[in-house]
Order: sequence, then structure tokens, then C-alpha cells
Amino acid sequence: MKDFNYYQPTEIRFGAGRIREVGEAVAACGRRCLLVTVPVFPEFESLFRDVKRSLKESGISVAHFDGVIPNPTTELVSAGALVAEKHRADVVLGLGGGSSMDTAKAIAVEATHQGTCWDYLFFRDGQPTEQTLPVVAVSTTSGTGSQVTQVAVVTNPEEKTKSALYHPRLFPKIALVDPELMLSVPEHVTASTGFDVFAHAFESFITPNGSAYTDLISLEAIRLAADNLPRAVEDGSDLEARTRMAWADTLAGLSIANAGVTLPHGIGMAIGGSYPHVMHGEALAVVYPAILRYTYETVPDKFAQVGMLFDPALDDLPVEEAAAKSATLIENFIRRIGMSLCFADLNVPEEELRDLAEASLVLPDYKNHPRVVDLEGVFELLKESCRK
Ligand code: NAD
Repeated sequence: MKDFNYYQPTEIRFGAGRIREVGEAVAACGRRCLLVTVPVFPEFESLFRDVKRSLKESGISVAHFDGVIPNPTTELVSAGALVAEKHRADVVLGLGGGSSMDTAKAIAVEATHQGTCWDYLFFRDGQPTEQTLPVVAVSTTSGTGSQVTQVAVVTNPEEKTKSALYHPRLFPKIALVDPELMLSVPEHVTASTGFDVFAHAFESFITPNGSAYTDLISLEAIRLAADNLPRAVEDGSDLEARTRMAWADTLAGLSIANAGVTLPHGIGMAIGGSYPHVMHGEALAVVYPAILRYTYETVPDKFAQVGMLFDPALDDLPVEEAAAKSATLIENFIRRIGMSLCFADLNVPEEELRDLAEASLVLPDYKNHPRVVDLEGVFELLKESCRK
């Protein structure tokens, strides 16, 4: 077995109804809180009210920045950082999907450092210091795992680029995962965010950067998503399925925080940077079938192990055959949750695929894929993703 490191400083509080503890959780980190959310909509009205009440009852002074948009931008983070500075916030509470939690993390950096969050991307010389505000993350989608990762994804519209802050100081201090908050997620958002969970678990399992520890948790996350995502998509009020997806999401987040992601995420980030209307899960699902076909022969053993979670009968087949069948089973899973997509479905023009191929190789994710691709190779995979 190869050596490995595993690091995870986030305290996880998991379970239905745990949102009631939010005031106490935030009070463990500070007294002046910036609450970061999307603008209020009917399903969130009582949640926002209850959270603010819980914070006040714990003696916390709250300012509410409710401007978050999907695929958060640098301008958005700057606007939130100004509110944090004015309020003299000493803790940031990100409440929502990955977009809200990531905005909270980026604000925690920008409000306490020179320049903007874009100056602290993972490859820059300047990195978040100990001044970074503590973050408490409350997830309302089962998707990004951001509640337990050191990542904040931000889009720079001027540069048409989506990139990330990535630093251990960005791990939330506390992650509060309450599956009851996910009951209101609409069907397509459940499918799209849930596919992100599967993708995190799958990519952190097939990458050569994985370990015995991440293999253990990523396989469990894949098993949970395979069994429960179709259920949650079919019936959003199924609390058991929502709970298991929330756990899969958290496990997959723990796995990517230590093993990282691979080629689909590199392409997905490029799609999100150029076409912000595309949901993150959609950007992944559109390229997955082509990438599965491109990859299964390189790591047949890993594909076979995943395939057995969908169909235990694969255990009786030679590993190469099981790997090929596994790729087909994952494609069927994508179809079953309504995420079988082509670029035309996402309004991404075919003539822009070459630029997209170039952008897909900017982040290092593709280098962590088991079969490393070159520019022509990505272009071919993107062209293949124009059909379904
Ligand atoms: P999101 O946060 O953008 O939310 C999607 C939509 O669902 C929004 O309109 C939101 O208002 C709505 N929504 C959220 N919770 C809801 C609920 N309970 N009921 C009803 N509607 C609800 O989506 P996401 O997929 O969670 O996050 C995507 C972002 O996270 C992208 O920017 C992506 O790149 C990033 N990301 C971050 C990490 C990380 O580790 N930090 C990992 C993967 C992706």
C-alpha cells in the first residue's frame, strides 16, 4: 500500500434538524457575523428568518449579504467583502449551495487582505494568511462538498475564467449538514448537484492521487449516490434519500479535499467560466460519457469496482469486460437522472469548442486524470459530446 497524508480540520455536525444549532456553532467562532446567501425566495424565507433568530439568541450581531448568484463572480465577492468590513465581521456564515459557501470563503479572504480574492488564487505567490476570517458552512444542496473543502471557486467575467482559491485556511471551521434543508431543491437542481457528488467521488477514486483513505470514502459516496440520487430526483420529499445524498456529498467533499479531481472537472470549470448560465453539474454531465469511454481501459480495475456498485453481477466477469460494462452503467445512471446532455442542450456553440478545449487545459486537473490528454484529444472529446 502506498504512503499517504490525509488532512481534515472541519468539525462536521450532521443530521436532520441540526440547523437549530447554527447560532451556537457561529458563536464558537465569533461575535459579529456576515451571513452570505442568495436573495430570499419563498422556500428560503422561513429558513433565513430562523437562522437570524438563532444567531441573535446566541448574542451574535448579524449583517446579511444576500446577493449570491450561481457561479459567483469577483464583483460579487468584492461587494460582500465591503459589507463584511463595514460590519467588522469576525466570522462568515455561508448558507446555501456551493455558490453561497464559496462566496463566504472568498469574502473571508478579501475582507482581510489587500487587493481582491482573485489575487489569492491557488497558483499566486500571495496566499491567504492567518487573518482570514473563520467560516461556518451550512449546505442546502447535496452537490459540491464545499462545506468540508479548502476550495472556493470564483468566476472572473472580464477574463471569462473560472478559477479557485485553494488553501487549508479555507476549510470551514464547522460544517452543518441538515438534510431537511435540501427537501426544497427542485428536481433538475437535485439531479445536477447530485451528479457533481457522483463526479467528485468517481474522479477522486480513479485519480492516481488517491489513497487507501480516499478510496474508502469515495467508493462509499459512489454507492450512496448510485442508490439514492435517482430516488431523490424522483421524489424530492424522500428524506431518507436526501439524507443519504447529503452524506454522500460530505464524503465526496472529504475525498476531493485530499485526492483532487480529474479531467471532467478541468473541462467543467472551462465551460462554467465561458458560459456562466450552465450549471456546474450540467457542465460535467455533458462530457462524462465521452470521457468514460476514453478512460475505462486505462484503469480497468477501478472501473470494475465502481461498476460492481451498480451491478454486483459484474464480479463474475473478467476485469476488462466489467470495466467496459461499468462505463455503460454509469452512462445509464446519467440518463436515469435526466442528465443526458449534449452541447446544443446547453447552448454552447460547436464552433467555440476549440477555444473551450484550450481553456480546459489551464487548470491542472487534466494532469491528474489516469489517461492524460493533449489539446487535440480534448477537442475530440468535446466534439464527441455534441451527440448523445
Ligand atoms: P448553487 O449554489 O449555485 O445553487 C444552485 C441553485 O439552487 C441556486 O439557484 C440556489 O438558489 C438553488 N438552491 C440552493 N439550495 C436550495 C434549496 N435548498 N432549495 C431550493 N433551491 C436551492 O449550486 P451548487 O451546485 O451547490 O454550487 C455550484 C458552485 O460551487 C459552482 O460555482 C461550482 O464551481 C462550485 N464548486 C465548489 C466546490 C468546492 O469544493 N468549493 C466543488 C465543486 C463545485
